[in-house]
Amino acid sequence: MRVRERLERVLRRIEDAAKRSGRDPKDITLVAVSKNFPAEVVKEAYSLGLRNFGENRAQELKEKFEELKDLSITWHFIGRIQTNKVKYFVPIAEYVHSVWRKEELDEIEKRASKIDKIMKIFIEMNISGEESKAGIREDEISSFLKLAKGYKHIEVIGLMTMAPFVKDPEEVRWVFKKLREIRDEMSKDFPSLKELSMGMSNDFEVAIEEGATFVRIGTAIFGPRT
Ligand SMILES: *Cc1c(COP(=O)(O)O)cnc(C)c1O
Repeated sequence: MRVRERLERVLRRIEDAAKRSGRDPKDITLVAVSKNFPAEVVKEAYSLGLRNFGENRAQELKEKFEELKDLSITWHFIGRIQTNKVKYFVPIAEYVHSVWRKEELDEIEKRASKIDKIMKIFIEMNISGEESKAGIREDEISSFLKLAKGYKHIEVIGLMTMAPFVKDPEEVRWVFKKLREIRDEMSKDFPSLKELSMGMSNDFEVAIEEGATFVRIGTAIFGPRT
């Protein structure tokens, strides 16, 4: 199947999931996760109308950005943050989805202040409690948000999570619901906290039904990664 057909299906499924839950599909930003695919594939997706692309490695993001400079792409950094690589993605990315440690805030602040940029970030949360997962726990979110508020060049716009990979996405609905509830609760004290980055190829419809405003989808658009 070609990217065009895959994308059409994904867009229809996003629309259907939004309508099922009484939401406007326009309130959901599709971030096409282009990791492991070459710049030409990004170009193809761009020609089909996509504008938001996500990468999980700083070096790969930088290389694709250089190759695709002429396109008006909004880049998202979605991967594990290595503090020595922050300098690569801060000038390029408009959004960072995966911030959860203080040293990451420190480094983003340092790099963003140098170019007078305000970096929009999501705080990554580990809702499922899996040991291997990045992200902060529910009992840490309030103090982390308080901490993040002190950085002049960082704006926390929302929360992000990755659900465990399961066959039936209904099994992880609770994860998305929980993230939404935390957002609702926290936004009373932190009104900039509006967005929910949740849902991938395997579970984006359930995530949308639970309130996702950004979905990060790779495989369902581009096919399996090698
Ligand atoms: C790879 C990746 C995705 C996309 O995964 P698919 O299952 O291919 O849709 C989403 N979010 C993050 C953080 C990723 O690393």
